[in-house]
Amino acid sequence: MWISASADASEAGAEKALLEEEEEAAAAENPLAFLCSGCPRPLDYSLSWVSGREDTNCILLRCVSCNVSVDKEQKLSKCKDENGCILETLYCKGCSLKLGHVYRCTPKNLDYKRDLFCLSVETIESYTLDV
Ligand SMILES: [Zn+2]
Repeated sequence: MWISASADASEAGAEKALLEEEEEAAAAENPLAFLCSGCPRPLDYSLSWVSGREDTNCILLRCVSCNVSVDKEQKLSKCKDENGCILETLYCKGCSLKLGHVYRCTPKNLDYKRDLFCLSVETIESYTLDV
C-alpha cells in the first residue's frame, strides 16, 4: 500500500529527522498517518505536517502521497481571508473523494501557504502509528 512516493518521503524524512529530532522530542507524540475517509488509502505521514487548526477544519501538509491527484484547473479561493489565492483541487485517486486543495499562488501575506496541501479534516482520518 505504501508505494514508491511514500518510500521517497520517508528517506527524505530520515535526513530531516536529524534536524528535527529536538522538535519531535518536544512534541513527544507517535507519528500520525492520514488516511482517506472514503477508501481508506494513505494520504501522507505527519512528517510533512505543517499545522492543523481546528478553527479552519483543515490541516496543512508539505507533501502528499501518490494516492492524491491534483485537478489542474485553477480556482480562486472563496474564503474571505484568502483573497487572491489560486487553488487546485485535490482528489483521492481511490474513491474520487474531494480532499481539499493546494495553494498555487498566494498574496504576500499568505506566502507561507504557497505550495502547501490543505486537507479538510472531514475527509481524512488520522491514524497513530505504533513505533
Ligand atoms: Zn479515497
